[in-house]
Amino acid sequence: MGKIISVSNQKGGVGKTTTAINLSAGLAEHGHKVLLIDTDAQGNSTSGLGINRENISLGLHDAIIDEFPLIEIIIDTGYENFHAIPSTRDLSGVDAELFQIERRERRLKEGLHILKQEYDYIIIDCPPSLTLLTVNALTAADSVLIPLQTEYYALEGLGQLLGAINLIRLGLNPDLAIEGIVLTMFDKRTRLSMQVVNEVQCFFRDREYVFDTIIPRNVRLSEAPSYGKPALYYDPSSIGAQAYRALSKEFLKKQAGMLSVC
Ligand code: ATP
Ligand code: MG
Repeated sequence: MGKIISVSNQKGGVGKTTTAINLSAGLAEHGHKVLLIDTDAQGNSTSGLGINRENISLGLHDAIIDEFPLIEIIIDTGYENFHAIPSTRDLSGVDAELFQIERRERRLKEGLHILKQEYDYIIIDCPPSLTLLTVNALTAADSVLIPLQTEYYALEGLGQLLGAINLIRLGLNPDLAIEGIVLTMFDKRTRLSMQVVNEVQCFFRDREYVFDTIIPRNVRLSEAPSYGKPALYYDPSSIGAQAYRALSKEFLKKQAGMLSVC
């Protein structure tokens, strides 16, 4: 049975998509079967994998609203062990449509039930909002991975996200765990970046797992999407790619540790 990880933070531009794509690529590189789901109408992880949305007729919208089988909208990314469910433009209206239907928070979870047996890891790239689509992702997920940008307002809005996670635990998904916090866009030249790392580590000490791997600010990571490739394949030796490889390794080590505890 695979594990579903939702990459969430309602704050925009903190590295959710970059983390979702490159963690997926890193896990696939380790031989794990991975499915990346783009729940963001912006479609950044879809285009970041080189998938042209204009050529897609059926997408996540059809699965969530019309219960079209998710398995039929899976796309092979061309990378070994790495599949994706793309976002389509009509996803932008899905929240309003969801309000009118039953089991509106559980649509994704129900659709993923069968796929959980097919994949080792299902990674969900969330939009920068706490809308019904994000609620669907958090309801379907086993855990949440929270990217935090190492900038002045890093912790701003985090209380709101943790509050939403607690609400989901109270009703829709009691077993939802926090996988951990990933610090992103770290700039070793600035004192501010270092201060934020310390602040985040203090804030979460003894409460949540903060990944030792810190993702540096690296131009290769921001270039890769325009070539439609994960940075791991675009420039495998770049410091950005190396950091995401290290994150994937740490992630897997953590999973192995969790298994032995169980
Ligand atoms: P949104 O909230 O809009 O979905 P996001 O949280 O998914 O954004 P990304 O799209 O991953 O964030 O990153 C925002 C921008 O910063 C993108 O242009 C991305 O290429 C760039 N970026 C992300 N991580 C890094 C990094 N470590 N170094 C340099 N650029 C980065
Ligand atoms: Mg994004």
